[in-house]
Amino acid sequence: MKILLTGGAGYVGSACLRWLLNSGHDPYAFDDLSEGNRDSVPADRLIEGDIQDREALEKAMRDTGAEAVMNFAALASVPDSIRLPELYWRINVFGTKNILDAMMATGVKRILFSSTAATYSFDNEMPLTEEAALVPKVPYGTTKLACEKMIQEYSNAYGLSYAILRYFNAAGADPDGEFGEDRHHETHLIPLILQAAVGKRDKITIFGNDWETRDGTCVRDYVHTSDLAQAHQLAVENMKPGEGEIFNCGSGDGVTVQEVLQACENAVGRTIPSEICGRRPGDPAILIASSQKIKDQLGWEPQFPKIEDIVGSAWRWHERYPHGYKDKETVHSQDT
Ligand code: UDP
Repeated sequence: MKILLTGGAGYVGSACLRWLLNSGHDPYAFDDLSEGNRDSVPADRLIEGDIQDREALEKAMRDTGAEAVMNFAALASVPDSIRLPELYWRINVFGTKNILDAMMATGVKRILFSSTAATYSFDNEMPLTEEAALVPKVPYGTTKLACEKMIQEYSNAYGLSYAILRYFNAAGADPDGEFGEDRHHETHLIPLILQAAVGKRDKITIFGNDWETRDGTCVRDYVHTSDLAQAHQLAVENMKPGEGEIFNCGSGDGVTVQEVLQACENAVGRTIPSEICGRRPGDPAILIASSQKIKDQLGWEPQFPKIEDIVGSAWRWHERYPHGYKDKETVHSQDT
């Protein structure tokens, strides 16, 4: 299928693009490279453009003959969203509206949307099913929920098909360690720990050890980007005309921050400097997914559910390319 991936040169988007290519689809990334990386996708698969630019979106949809759009283009840091809500509403919500309107103008009828566990109320029982109450507490979650509602209302009125995938904590790198996480401004746990391991930062700061969890640090459900990519493939191949589905995507296993740090130390083979500090605003104690629905309906089965495998792949990437895609350019120019 011809698929346009907005934000397709970003961390999750590019993993999906590479996966879709290997699965025989015809995917193109549309990305302004503000957070994405040129070298994360083949050069002839990248269209440079901004989701705020309606005309560029429509042109990309027409030029590629897109039959579906997957929207990964978003800002995705909880702490940044609390500081910068205007930016989050503009990029995440208006950007998604532009994409939907461009789809309407060009006749593209299918959309897959990257949503998040941050749409749920933190008071729900774990693991979270798709029926759990939705009460986002931070602008990142609110903007994603607004997009979900917009997509559903467009679907009802204009007959779009949709799949909303609520990711838990996307993590890991391609199993061969050749493509991985590389943001200009990093706030996520695993890359920050591994940056401390390679000496790019002094230490990892642990946000609180006084939570009501087994070791006092927050519990999250880490899901490998290759598994997320498989979920997107299954979802786009199984869309029903004019209908929509929402699926959680997680490994179903809750891991504490201390356990992630331990798994990273095991992968790296040495102690990684760390320090406990106060809680981070907006953090819930525990987030764990039930992904039973996508398993039952689409046959999704995560290949890398264990935290050891997730951080192992991330370490292969960080160890070989401590400065991310910049290092890849150097390695490849030395190769040739
Ligand atoms: N975390 C931490 N130190 C950091 C970054 C994150 O202790 O420097 C914790 C954070 O409080 C949360 C978990 O790691 O409990 C995962 O955070 P991340 O930002 O990776 O993802 P989020 O759960 O916010 O989507």
